[in-house]
Amino acid sequence: MGDNAALEKALNARAGRILLVDDHPRSASRLVEALSRTHDTFVERDPQAALMKLADHNFDLLVVSLSLAGSDGLRLCSQVRSLDRTRHLPIIILVEPGDEARLLRGLDMGVNDYLMRPIDRHEMLARIKTQIKRKRFSDYLRNKLEESVELAITDPLTGLHNRRYMETHMRTLVDDAIRSGRPLSILVSDIDHFKSVNDTHGHDGGDMVLKEFSARMKRNTRGIDLACRLGGEEFLIIMPETDLARAYQVGERLRAMVAADPFQIAPDVKIRVTASVGLATLESPDDTPETIFKRADNALYAAKRRGRNRVAADAA
Ligand code: GH3
Ligand code: MG
Ligand code: MG
Repeated sequence: MGDNAALEKALNARAGRILLVDDHPRSASRLVEALSRTHDTFVERDPQAALMKLADHNFDLLVVSLSLAGSDGLRLCSQVRSLDRTRHLPIIILVEPGDEARLLRGLDMGVNDYLMRPIDRHEMLARIKTQIKRKRFSDYLRNKLEESVELAITDPLTGLHNRRYMETHMRTLVDDAIRSGRPLSILVSDIDHFKSVNDTHGHDGGDMVLKEFSARMKRNTRGIDLACRLGGEEFLIIMPETDLARAYQVGERLRAMVAADPFQIAPDVKIRVTASVGLATLESPDDTPETIFKRADNALYAAKRRGRNRVAADAA
């Protein structure tokens, strides 16, 4: 309920940014005078200039006169509807009585509302308010959708892909490698003695280590690699086009990048962190994400057993 009230307020609150396209001086100035009391209003005489302005700035509404002297206001409407940047912009057209044919064409091409001249100010302001509110609400929904898609595939703490995203894509990457006969390797990494970081420096200190570890890991991966956080202090990198020898270099570089410089976990606290790395590579067309992962995990376990802060490869 509180959320809804706040949303309602936000939808109505700010003045709208309106672009008016009208080349009749008296009509334009009368409209601007009426609109400017409640909204930030800009006027363009020329539809092409208007289109550029719309593409470069955020407007809440376009008002187009269909009685332009030298150009066609409907053409502008159709351009606005076809550009990605302006597709969702509400449009109100101003129509002369008797011009029903073009009014219908306008409505067909996705104009949101119209006003007949002579224009009644109150009617105009009411229609404009409705359009701006509707636009703000759909912007809000679109942003929320993008946010939730983002949430579903990324780990909020580290910004890396999450396990779910990885599981979907690893299958495709493995299938592609098998089909094309190209190499693919995976790297799993687990921070050493992470529990004692939490015990000594608190959960927030541990979280700082996870963030910094992820940042170093990102610096160590190419664009075609897929880096993700499996959970806790365990990470995975899937490396297409990479054989085991090359994967070993990547693993060793990651291990060294972690061990070399202490992690700053608070303004006055720096600690040494190490991680162990296990590697495995695609070996046969019968391999699956699960079999490759199992071998990398075995290698990781071997690296831990041999003393941590080291890289081990699955010795097939
Ligand atoms: P090893 O060298 O064998 O890997 O030892 P370890 O202490 O790193 O391994 P263990 O699996 O015993 O401990 C992992 C710890 O990670 C325990 C858990 O509380 C902690 N942990 C898991 N997720 C998070 C997280 O998101 N933030 C923080 N701060 N700690 C986490
Ligand atoms: Mg672990
Ligand atoms: Mg660990």
